Parts: sequence; structure tokens; C-alpha cells
Amino acid sequence: MVKGVKVELDAFCVCLTHSLSTEEEEVMGLLIGEIIDDHAIVSTVSMLRRSDKRKDRVEISPEQLARGAQEAERMAEISRRPMRVLGWYHSHPHITVWPSHVDTRTQAMYQNMDPDFIGLIFSCFNSDPQNFSRIELTCFQSKLTPAAIEGQEIPDAIHLPVQICRKASISQFCLEALNKLPLILLEEEQEAYKEAESDNILSQIHNGAVFVRSLSRFMEIICAPAVQMLESRLEQTQTKVKRLQAEKRRLQEALDS
Ligand SMILES: [Zn+2]
Repeated sequence: MVKGVKVELDAFCVCLTHSLSTEEEEVMGLLIGEIIDDHAIVSTVSMLRRSDKRKDRVEISPEQLARGAQEAERMAEISRRPMRVLGWYHSHPHITVWPSHVDTRTQAMYQNMDPDFIGLIFSCFNSDPQNFSRIELTCFQSKLTPAAIEGQEIPDAIHLPVQICRKASISQFCLEALNKLPLILLEEEQEAYKEAESDNILSQIHNGAVFVRSLSRFMEIICAPAVQMLESRLEQTQTKVKRLQAEKRRLQEALDS
């Protein structure tokens, strides 16, 4: 059994960006990393599309879980580390960070298949009594009893200590995950637009306007800041390359003389 969880800073930022992408619905994804000395080390994530947008309905389909495992395998091959799916995360916009009954039931189901499976919850769009915006994070597992496994009683949540670990730069896997976010949001909106299809001309105009408004919002709050972040990262990298080239020249000259 895992005793604690460490989330690398870049993976934490990707989860947080995903959680802050919408305040109307809960978002979810899979946590990927490895287990070292009874601690789950989350180094990247795989964002998932919501199949059911109703409140408290974050569920991962078996296909999504299988695809996540494949993705973790690919990462393990590239990084030559034993990377695997460690658990899941989801957001609680405008509600407390504590897992709901549905959450502990869902968690118990996954944990029954993998005892080390963990759940992270990001509570966002809340404010404290001083009116400062507050983001909270919790990591939990469910207490597995025979009745809970059978689904006859609601399992209790067990909270695990969670730490965020510093990291100097964003990893390739986290960048890939971040790049997927606009695409996931676009697909979700396209799906909602198709579902609302109507023969009524006024409804069609309304739906079209809602669709365009949503896409504009994503561009404003997700795409533009992401492009800005990547541009400043490129600038920093170019400066670093120039500095290293100058250093290389200096060392070469010293070696030649
Ligand atoms: Zn929840």
C-alpha cells in the first residue's frame, strides 16, 4: 500500500491548468508516474474527456483506462523508467475538496483492481473568508471492507499525505499533456453542439453563438497564455544555448592554447 504521494511541480501545474479550464463542470484525468519506497511519484498526467457532464459524474471508462495504460507504457519505453497509471484526478469547482460518496465508491472500484490506486481532488473557484481565491488539493483512497467492495456500504475516505516537489523545468510528457487540453475542450464543445442539433432556425443561431463564444473563451483563457508561456520558454532556451556556446568557445580556446 502507498503511504504518501509526491506530485512533481510540472504535473501539478498541468492538473491545475486543466482544473481551472472550466468552472461549470468537473474535469478529470489519469495520474502517471512510478512507485518508489511506498510513495507514488506523479510525474505526468493524461487528461480525459468527460463522457457525462452532470455533476459528480466523473467516471473513467475501461477504454480510457486501457488507453492510459498504453500511454504510460510508451512513456516508460522513452524514459526507461517503470512508469504506470498511478491513479486519477478530478476537479471540484465551487465545492469543498472532500471526496463525495460517489468519489469514494468510484475509488473503491479502482482500488479493488489495484490496491495502490490513488485519487487526487483539486478544489478551485472558492474563496476564503477574506475573499482571496483558494485552491485546495487532497489525496485519498477508500477504506476497503467486504461490504464496500460488494457495494452495500459507502466506503470511508482515507487521506494520504501529499507533497508537491520542485522541478526546474517542464518535462516533455507534461508539455504533451498540456498541448492536448485545447483539443479536448474543442471535442467536448463539438459534441455538445452536435447533441443540441435542432430544426428550429432560432435554436440553430443560438447554438452557433454559444459554440463560438465557448471557443473564444478557450482561446482567451487557455491558448493565448499557453502560447505566451511557450514563447518565453523558447526565449529562455535560446539565451541558454547562446551562453553555453560562448562557454564552449572559451573552453576550446583555453584547450588550444
Ligand atoms: Zn468528486
